[in-house]
Amino acid sequence: MTAIEGANELDRLVSRSRLIGADPALVLHGGGNTSTKLLERDQLGRERRVLRIKGSGSDLATVTASDFPGLWLDELVPLRERGVISDEEMIAYLGRCLVEPDSARPSIETLLHAFLPATHVDHVHADAICALANAPDPHAAVRAALGPDVAVVDYVRPGFELSCRVAELSDRRAVVLAHHGLVTWGDTHEESYGLTLELVRLADLFVGPIDPGSAAPAPDGATTERFLVRLRGLLSRDRRQVLAVDRTQRAFADRGDVERLARMRSTPDHMLRIGVETCVIGLDDDLAGKLGEFEAERRAVFERHGRGEPELGRSPKVVLVPGLGAVAAGPDRRAAEVRREIARHSHAAVAATLDRFGGASWLDESDVFGFEYWPLELYKLTLAPPPAELAGHVAIVTGAASGLGREIARDLSARGAHLVLADIDGDGLEEACREQPGDAIAVEGDLTDGAVLDRLVHTAVASFGGLDAVVLNAGVAATGSLDTVTEQEWRRSLEINLTSHFLLTRRVIPLLREQGIGGSLVFVASKNAFAPGAGFGPYSVAKAGLVQLMRIAALEGGKDGIRANAVNPDAIFGGSKLWSEEVRRERAEAHGVPLEALEEFYASRSLLGRPVTGEDVAEAVAFLVSDRSRATTGAVLPVDGGVAAAFPR
Ligand code: ZN
Repeated sequence: MTAIEGANELDRLVSRSRLIGADPALVLHGGGNTSTKLLERDQLGRERRVLRIKGSGSDLATVTASDFPGLWLDELVPLRERGVISDEEMIAYLGRCLVEPDSARPSIETLLHAFLPATHVDHVHADAICALANAPDPHAAVRAALGPDVAVVDYVRPGFELSCRVAELSDRRAVVLAHHGLVTWGDTHEESYGLTLELVRLADLFVGPIDPGSAAPAPDGATTERFLVRLRGLLSRDRRQVLAVDRTQRAFADRGDVERLARMRSTPDHMLRIGVETCVIGLDDDLAGKLGEFEAERRAVFERHGRGEPELGRSPKVVLVPGLGAVAAGPDRRAAEVRREIARHSHAAVAATLDRFGGASWLDESDVFGFEYWPLELYKLTLAPPPAELAGHVAIVTGAASGLGREIARDLSARGAHLVLADIDGDGLEEACREQPGDAIAVEGDLTDGAVLDRLVHTAVASFGGLDAVVLNAGVAATGSLDTVTEQEWRRSLEINLTSHFLLTRRVIPLLREQGIGGSLVFVASKNAFAPGAGFGPYSVAKAGLVQLMRIAALEGGKDGIRANAVNPDAIFGGSKLWSEEVRRERAEAHGVPLEALEEFYASRSLLGRPVTGEDVAEAVAFLVSDRSRATTGAVLPVDGGVAAAFPR
């Protein structure tokens, strides 16, 4: 094996950790940990041995030196003689052994690393090792696959007792922790890491390939869409959830033993992030009925243990869908994707165990229950920042490549919304997607084309599981007095500024109804809807129609919680393509002001006498998108600096 590089021992520990973290078949999202014992000086200048171990909650793939708190080894090792120590005592004790008191909290598996005499220790939750560790007889499986010098420790939750048991086996080559993972060690970085790779490779060879299930044709787009939005609606009753679909997990969902597979877990990561909340629901099943059964079953387990609602909730976190794959839910896309990935590895490990050994062993209900209420692991989850205002919201913004649409998208994204952006300008759209602080997906195309609108809405559902809001913003300026404007120009304005919005509204309303958690449609109209300008007919007529379209949508959507409102901006110049040179010239002429004074003119004629910015409009749109405006529908909110002639009526 090639040498693990680094300027010093701590750097080499970082390199080794990142090598392990880079392979999702070894560890996932904060799982696993690594350590090195080295010499450091204390405040009196004495050389003492220090354990540098990964901090709780950091991810091996991206760790840096500061993610490895140091603990004085001569204070840790004597703890082994104590006999029994509670989790809370252990954590408090570890806190007092820190080299730097304000460093990251050390891993809950710190004592396991400390009690092993080897200089370097690695711990992973590799899929192939877990496939052995969950065999009906893990001892026999590990002996057969990895040889007699690798020991097995029966399941104990990580902590003091497990650390002592593993330390007793330090004369062996490595240790497999039943239902958990692998511990290796060595005198050099290369030795410990190399042993991990070697044992995982042997386990892989031993368990062999997985039965891929049936290969029935995939469901059509409409069936998938209907299933996803209904599922999202049911899972979002307390708090909005985002769904992540994984079609590669069809191999597990289509198996004859899928119900059994869904009830098994393979690693502590799976327990922590998903718990036992995995269920199987068919595309044609009664969704509400199935979920009701699942949740009643979960409640019964908690009642049996005399506890209230679990920390992680009672709804499924992962749903295996025969014919489709797996769908993971989370309060935002990142959380849903973490669950999707952990489920994929866990399901693969469980399927391998079932195929290779014809059965599997797993924790009993009280062990599982204990894990869900385990404060040491739940601590990791509390490290996440509080959710943003629009976290879990999915919104479409049309005309998002430039100007107002782009400003609105940036604002919604900063508030945590997941976005699907549409525009005919592909380059601008790519740029707009890149500048978003959060997730944004581009759908390029002519929004007067029903097929493009269909693709737009379907993309939102396929990417995030549903839809909460649509900002109907796409538009073009169209000028010309009635005696000279061409029929073609007139039709083009109505087509883009009005009919395309009708088509999108028509596509979205049944979907929101099916989803069952309401929704918000925000129409970006114009001050011109109420106060039109001479020579601006094609545009003003379309915008007046748009306000009326909004009102009809509010009337028809109300009973399903679908709100529809409009914003009426005026005279926003920054970045907007609406204000082409030609339009500017025409408007300046119409108002009798010089071209360069046009912006000032618009600002000065308003009641507030101040310019209106894209940010002002974005703020109003965010309000109408969010639940803050939950009691408002059919309203027009002017964002024009105050134009008396354009007061809503
Ligand atoms: Zn572990």
